[in-house]
Amino acid sequence: MSTDRVVLVTGGNRGIGRAIAERFVRLGYRVAVTARSGEGPEGTLTVRADVTDAASVDAAFSEVEAALGPVEIVVANAGITKDTLLMRMTEDDFDSVVATNLGGAFRVVKRASKNMLRARWGRVVLISSVVGLYGSAGQVNYAASKSALVGFARSLTRELGGRGITANVVAPGFIETDMTAELPDATQAEYKKNIPAGRFATSDEVAGVVAWIASDDAAYISGAVIPVDGGLGMGH
Ligand code: NDP
Repeated sequence: MSTDRVVLVTGGNRGIGRAIAERFVRLGYRVAVTARSGEGPEGTLTVRADVTDAASVDAAFSEVEAALGPVEIVVANAGITKDTLLMRMTEDDFDSVVATNLGGAFRVVKRASKNMLRARWGRVVLISSVVGLYGSAGQVNYAASKSALVGFARSLTRELGGRGITANVVAPGFIETDMTAELPDATQAEYKKNIPAGRFATSDEVAGVVAWIASDDAAYISGAVIPVDGGLGMGH
């Protein structure tokens, strides 16, 4: 199995993105991460990028290409939440979440696809969420941005599937990161009651699945939604 490929993970300075980058490094890939602040894990190249800005994404890709070569595996992981009930949700709460979670994936994957087409090989992995298909009160903006990634990956599969490029969605459930640490203890306990596994996952449990879907073993899987949620979203 070839693990000598170039990987770019957006938002690789912390949380799930960092764990994904660490996993690819351990497997021997050449790994770059984008970060707005901080640094990626040891063994990675850190480039600055704001995924809401196409010029910034373009510059980050150029930097990675100059240092490591064309990006062959792209993981669109950078994401934000701005949770509140619909009646209180501002235009900015909605637009900024969609611009980051969905627009960010668009900008990054569009930029990556150029070289993937030339190479006739590529892996696109979009980090969605169980909430995208299950729904969640107070997360209309976030859930909409995450479910849209499914249509994105499936359309991309139809466009580029004949060129050795796969596009898949990984949908984590509740993962122990800064994002979930912000939830009050009582809310965390309530969520755990509904998760068949009875616990939140570690970021590394998501990273293992991402590494597998990007590997040669998963060459015939495209347009799939792979849950990593301890059974929370079954059937959604
Ligand atoms: P964190 O909040 O820990 O990290 C988010 C990452 O995204 C950071 O690296 C952050 O950079 C980056 N980011 C945010 N906005 C931008 C932007 N405009 N441009 C570039 N980078 C940006 O999140 P998690 O690790 O928890 O989540 C990672 C992904 O997984 C997200 O897409 C999230 O929606 C998804 N997810 C998370 C779950 C969880 O339980 N934690 C569950 C399901 C899905 P910076 O440090 O500079 O802010």
